[in-house]
Amino acid sequence: MDLVTGNIGWIEVICGPMFSGKSEELIRRLRRAMIARKRVQVFKPSLDDRYARDEIVSHGEMRMPSEVIRGAAEILDKLDWRTEVIGIDEANFLGPGLIPVASRLADSGKQVIAAGLDTDYLGRPFAPIPELLALAESITKTLAICMRCGNPAKHTQRLVASDELIVVGAAGMYEARCRRCFEPGIPKQEMFDFARPPSRGDAAPET
Ligand code: ADP
Ligand code: ZN
Repeated sequence: MDLVTGNIGWIEVICGPMFSGKSEELIRRLRRAMIARKRVQVFKPSLDDRYARDEIVSHGEMRMPSEVIRGAAEILDKLDWRTEVIGIDEANFLGPGLIPVASRLADSGKQVIAAGLDTDYLGRPFAPIPELLALAESITKTLAICMRCGNPAKHTQRLVASDELIVVGAAGMYEARCRRCFEPGIPKQEMFDFARPPSRGDAAPET
């Protein structure tokens, strides 16, 4: 939803699993703001340096220049106060400090558009996004396509073994899964099935 108001500020959140089009939607909204001749600044946490340090990049190769921040407070340091629209990608990596920063920006008349994961690799709400949703004027939940069955997918399935909350990676390390196909934690290694020695039942009948 595109909000149309006077010059009061607000918060828009785009949330969903990996591969669901959050970055694409963020870039689309920021491009529209630029077309409307608004002053735009885009930030992303330094943690996410998968593709490029100074731009946000979608899995479908849409790109937009961005400024790297090490924490939410740095948005205030790097902000040109003439900026009207503030885009934040991978907002889930910014921690609880994002909440007062986004609130302050919106209270100051800025349009804040934040994109981030709403759940983690175990399917749990991913702070601070749930709190940001409660404070936002507008919420968009994007869904990906389940890589197992093709249904709409709300989960980010981790494919590599790690108990860390944050393991930055893209294709190969994560895939989108629907509610039914999601396996919290690490999926059973079905890929090893081919290496299993054939059981008696599989063996060709002796002649
Ligand atoms: P996000 O920011 O949510 O991770 P992106 O905007 O970076 O998503 O990427 C979305 C694009 O990823 C889609 O337009 C599509 O080209 C591609 N893609 C790859 N895997 C999937 C999937 N399982 N479901 C949907 N889109 C996918
Ligand atoms: Zn599925």
